[in-house]
Order: sequence, then structure tokens, then C-alpha cells
Amino acid sequence: MVIPKTLPVRRCSQKKWSPKPAKTVANIDSITALALGCGFSHVGGLDAAVIKVREEVRGACAANKCKAYGANWTCPPACGSLAECEARLRQYKNGIIMQTSGILEDSLDYEAMERIGLTHGENLRSFNKQLREICPDFLLLGAGGCKRCDKCSYPDAPCRFPTEMLSSMEAYGMVVSDVCRDSGIPYYYGSGTLTYVGCVLF
Ligand code: SF4
Repeated sequence: MVIPKTLPVRRCSQKKWSPKPAKTVANIDSITALALGCGFSHVGGLDAAVIKVREEVRGACAANKCKAYGANWTCPPACGSLAECEARLRQYKNGIIMQTSGILEDSLDYEAMERIGLTHGENLRSFNKQLREICPDFLLLGAGGCKRCDKCSYPDAPCRFPTEMLSSMEAYGMVVSDVCRDSGIPYYYGSGTLTYVGCVLF
């Protein structure tokens, strides 16, 4: 596998945020360390209270440019109404944001864009698998609909891998750049870079 060029790995420094007591034996430091070990290039704390969900993000999903709307268990409408998704995420107080950044040769470097996206997916899958061993209850969200299977079983059969299915921040109505900004985490790392984002709430 070709490893994409990535920006230096680091934990984001943040002034605004301090963690609440977590309802798990794992803590913010152990989960952050786990995320950094899974290959994400930037990791920082997420205060779940700053998350805003917006109907217009769901509207963008319905435009179906990604072809996942109505075609994947993790995307609208199968993932539930926006109110249901919000109720799910409001159960959690703490979180972290995980980013996979890479460098593009130019703005038409689609090969690198795809490679960085695939790497982000691999990082998320590895993180999900290892987090299950230390944290009994969490909500992990990625970028775009679940790509675990070549073709999702929706709507004909149940999800084939319910412990590996991965919904997106957008499906939960989040504007990803706003969530990063409101958490004091950069989203843009300069000209010629591309960043995919995910988050976990616990
Ligand atoms: S794991 Fe497979 S069946 Fe389940 S949501 Fe993802 S793509 Fe669909």
C-alpha cells in the first residue's frame, strides 16, 4: 500500500477545552494516545456541548451528490431523523476529533485525494477495533457513508458488520469545519493540503 505524504503527527493544543468526567475506564489521554497510534495526523479534544446540528446539512445529503443517500444503512434516511441522531450524540459529554491530513501535488491531484480518504478510513477502522477493547460505549463518526462493504446491504438485508458500520459527521447534521473551529482545532493546514475529519464521543 502506498502511504500518503502526511503532515507531522501531533496533538492539537487547545485553550478553550477541558474534559468532563467520562463514563468509561478509558480517559481522554488514553483515547487520544490510541488515536495517534492509529495513524491520524492531528488529534484534539471535542466538547460535545459545542456541537450544533443543522437541518441544511441534511439537505445537502438529500441532494445525493455522494450517491449514498437512501443507499447505505449509515446515511439518511436509514440512520434516523436528525432529531434521533442528535438525541444519540447528546448522551455523551466528551469526545475527540481525529484528522488525517495529506499533501496534494496540485488542486487536481485526485489520486492523492482518494489515497488520503482511504487512509482516513483505515485509521478509523483500526481505531474502532481497538477502542472497543477499552471503552464499552462510544459513538464514532467519520467522513462520508460507511464503505466497509463494496455494496451496502441496505435496504434488502441487515447490516453485515454492525460493530464496524460507520456513520458520518455530516449524517448527524454537523458542519465539520465549524465543529473543528468551535473546538479550537485547525481544519486547514495550508495550501496544497487536504484533511479528512472524524470524531468520537464517549
Ligand atoms: S458495514 Fe456494510 S452493510 Fe453495514 S452499513 Fe457498512 S457498508 Fe452497509
